[in-house]
Amino acid sequence: LFITFEGGDGSGKSTQSALLTEWLESLGRTVVLSREPGGTDLGLELREIVLHRRGHIAPRAEALIYAADRAHNIATRVRPALERGDIVVQDRYLDSSVAYQGAGRVLGGAEVRELSLWATEGLLPDLTILLDLHEGQDRLADRTRYDRLEAAGDDFHARVREAYLELAAAEPQRFLVLDARDSIENIAARIRSRVQPLLG
Ligand code: C5P
Repeated sequence: LFITFEGGDGSGKSTQSALLTEWLESLGRTVVLSREPGGTDLGLELREIVLHRRGHIAPRAEALIYAADRAHNIATRVRPALERGDIVVQDRYLDSSVAYQGAGRVLGGAEVRELSLWATEGLLPDLTILLDLHEGQDRLADRTRYDRLEAAGDDFHARVREAYLELAAAEPQRFLVLDARDSIENIAARIRSRVQPLLG
């Protein structure tokens, strides 16, 4: 079972992925909690590069770095875990690239998705939880981390959000879309009830 979390910066993905992991472990399941970029040692180095040079990397190069991080994470951590029968909960996956590099950096969603599918040999999540953050509702206190909003501006984030919503609309069976402004506990409860029937 491969579950991914998606959403804008500060939408609560890391909080919710940790809560879901805790709950699954309390049910006796083995969970691998992962994230992109930076789920592996190589990934951490790539994360440093891509975030510190943000705004100074050619968009296609940036997309390839995210794809390299993903390829290594999937091959060395995620696939082996899934093969063992563990549950993988991951903060960000290919939909992040489609939204950020495809729509945000305007490379085109279809091409970025193809790149990602090539990188992962076609691995798609069983469930993707999109924590939808309405514009101007960014919860992030520390907005300067990684110069998040730098050159990007609101337009970038609006395109990213729009792209996420389009992805969710195109694959309603894979996505659960939740309003990120709801309380942490309400969101966690809705996630648990969506995941429960997948546990078998
Ligand atoms: O989610 P996390 O804080 O780890 O992401 C780090 C940064 O990388 C975020 O600001 C996010 O917007 C960006 N990112 C990106 N493209 C991706 C994944 C993350 O621009 N494919």
